[in-house]
Amino acid sequence: MPSLPETIAGILRRTPEALIVCHVAPDGDCLGSALALALACERLGVRTVVGSADGVPEAYRFLPESERISAQAPAGTFPVGVALECSALDRAGVFADALARSRTLINIDHHLSNAGFGNIVYWDATAAAVGEQVYDVIRAMGVPLRADLAQCLLTAIVTDTGSFRFANTTPRTLRLAAELIEAGATAQAIVEHVYETRSAGSLRLLGAALHSLVVSADGRIAWTAVTPRMLQEAGALPEDVTGIVGMLRQIRGVRVALLFEVTPAGIRVGIRSRDGARSNVIAEVFGGGGHTGAAGFTAAGALNEVIARTLAEVENELRVSP
Ligand code: 5GP
Ligand code: MN
Repeated sequence: MPSLPETIAGILRRTPEALIVCHVAPDGDCLGSALALALACERLGVRTVVGSADGVPEAYRFLPESERISAQAPAGTFPVGVALECSALDRAGVFADALARSRTLINIDHHLSNAGFGNIVYWDATAAAVGEQVYDVIRAMGVPLRADLAQCLLTAIVTDTGSFRFANTTPRTLRLAAELIEAGATAQAIVEHVYETRSAGSLRLLGAALHSLVVSADGRIAWTAVTPRMLQEAGALPEDVTGIVGMLRQIRGVRVALLFEVTPAGIRVGIRSRDGARSNVIAEVFGGGGHTGAAGFTAAGALNEVIARTLAEVENELRVSP
């Protein structure tokens, strides 16, 4: 029996064209994985369309070929569609319909909560990043690593492991990173573009969000909110909200950190947790998902009401995972 990466590689080798799609509010893992897979396909003569409903944040525009990522869903039907770390099809945003129409739909994900949609489901929650799974597919395709492709995969791995600081980092992750660097990728480029360069507006927004943070009476929950007005006053973009919630989790004694962002689609809630509290369990109550330490969801309703409902669920989770 062929392995899942071999099965997927076989499908990609035979198709003339594939649609490769990231999740909404894309991160380094889905963007890097999508570009790496597209580069591998093109090396075999397979045409690709790479989609990201929310475009490409400035921090990731250094990735090779990132300019060909489209935010507009194609009209036609693709023989093959690949959803990258979309736990459900609607996570693909405006690309969900095009993916659903594709004749063979491949679902590659490492989130704990994946709905298992598609014709082929390559789900591996032990992978630190979807980039690790995509690496196995590219190897099975027989495409040699080149510097551009390796840079995309290294970005996926570095960003999803928090620069190798999170518990998902395994010996395999580090071996793979070494192999990618041998193939010409550099960690320096990632550090420079993703972590050490930002706009003044994003720092002002961080200041405003940290200034208004709240810590619960028992010190175990920290949260803050970001409104469109705060973005406007700071001169920041929605993508600048990324990273703030992780800072709240740094507070000594805090086990769950929350960031409530008022968006046109509703209140987007980012969750980070530690010491056994499960972010994904909290998010799933509201129809979202993610990992143990990082998850999210979007809820309808007024900001204060969503905050109250979320805090109640966090309290529940802290009771069952003391
Ligand atoms: P972030 O807060 O960085 O946007 O997301 C943290 C983690 O939770 C990521 O792995 C992300 O894919 C996942 N996540 C965030 N929002 C949602 C959501 O609405 N639904 C699902 N299924 N996962 C989400
Ligand atoms: Mn990921």
